[in-house]
Amino acid sequence: MPQFSNASPPHTSDALFEEAQRYIPGGVNSPVRAFRAVGGTPRFIARAAGSKIYDVDGREYIDYVASWGPMILGHAHPQVVQALQQAAERGTSYGAPTAGEVTLAGMICDAFPSIDLVRLVSSGTEAAMSAIRVARGYTRRDLIVKFDGCYHGHTDGLLVQAGSGATTLGIPNSGGVPSSYTQQTLSLPFNNLSTVREAFDRYRERIAAVVLEPIPGNMGVVLPVDGFLQGLRDLTSQDGALLIFDEVITGFRVLYGGAQHLYGVTPDLTVLGKIIGGGLPVGAFGGRRDIMEQIAPLGPVYQAGTLSGNPLAVTAGIETLRLLRRPQVYEHLETKARQLCDGVQDAAKRAGVPVYATRVGSMFCTFFTDHPITDYASTSSADTAQFRRYFHALLDAGVYVAPSQFEAGFVSTAHTDDDIERTIAASYRAFQAVAQR
Ligand code: PMP
Repeated sequence: MPQFSNASPPHTSDALFEEAQRYIPGGVNSPVRAFRAVGGTPRFIARAAGSKIYDVDGREYIDYVASWGPMILGHAHPQVVQALQQAAERGTSYGAPTAGEVTLAGMICDAFPSIDLVRLVSSGTEAAMSAIRVARGYTRRDLIVKFDGCYHGHTDGLLVQAGSGATTLGIPNSGGVPSSYTQQTLSLPFNNLSTVREAFDRYRERIAAVVLEPIPGNMGVVLPVDGFLQGLRDLTSQDGALLIFDEVITGFRVLYGGAQHLYGVTPDLTVLGKIIGGGLPVGAFGGRRDIMEQIAPLGPVYQAGTLSGNPLAVTAGIETLRLLRRPQVYEHLETKARQLCDGVQDAAKRAGVPVYATRVGSMFCTFFTDHPITDYASTSSADTAQFRRYFHALLDAGVYVAPSQFEAGFVSTAHTDDDIERTIAASYRAFQAVAQR
């Protein structure tokens, strides 16, 4: 058995990563952090403030990962930190109800008119899993329709590889998932209503729910084509299936009321996470009263959690939402993100590198392809080798983007004009490095 080598751990990312791999599989507690898609050593982060993160090697980066979405106010916002310090002094967990949970739940219901009742959990994975359970309990049906390239956490039944059309029942794309668990999941191409229609024709009154990211952020950022979301609303309503929007990324991100507000389509259930915890672990699922009343202790669908509605996490969420509710926040985010993305696109053009850029509000992606990206299949046209060079050139220049072509970037309220100008300049040099190969 390896001995933990010393009382004070090593101080460079390289040394820490080596040490980490002795104790943690792959040296990371979530595989997306491992830099496997881009190569090199993940940076170990020592601290963060505003738009910047600082690694243990003493380097500063302008951060567009934002902890994969939650840090919409930037890091260590003074108001959030102060509220957390005060909350910690009152104790960190009681396993009994608190006023904070009521406040956060009320804020979520106010922001999302489709949510009458909401339950707080500790992660997006848990929230999506629970929403699906309640959908099945309510409809008394088993089948779930999801979309290729949409991610809803790592629960067994949702880890389904791209299916080939409406008639293919899912096969798992993770070891350790029995195929019987995913046989109830159909995975269809995003933005393609006719395959969804085929699925409903074939499995009439057997589909419990259609679940999707209304603006997918887990295959890069992909926009729903006109009529797709409304079409899903119509098809599910006609068949008596539920429509579940997984707004773990988009909730409070693209607008305070999420993608459903932006596109004017009302789901039956909504899954939330990330921003509602202000950087602490929180997820939530909620929706129509009659559906949510299926959950224990009111109904037969069991769902529970020792740390659900944790007082610290709820405090960070409340403070974050309060700050987001102030006037003009989303207009400012939109302006800054547009400035950034227009600048980056222009830099690519000047450097002669074809890109396809997508953005909704403050979430964005730069695909290394000139083909339109509309679904998971079309993401295969993106040149991941070019992305790898671009990523490392940016990292060397002090700009931190997600270490994969197929992730979203996020602008926060803390990004300054100077950050954005520096990022555009660094991008131009990075695109030049890509073009030189
Ligand atoms: N749904 C979506 C849309 C997500 O992006 C994620 C995480 N990136 C999840 C669910 C799972 O959330 P968590 O990582 O908090 O379990």
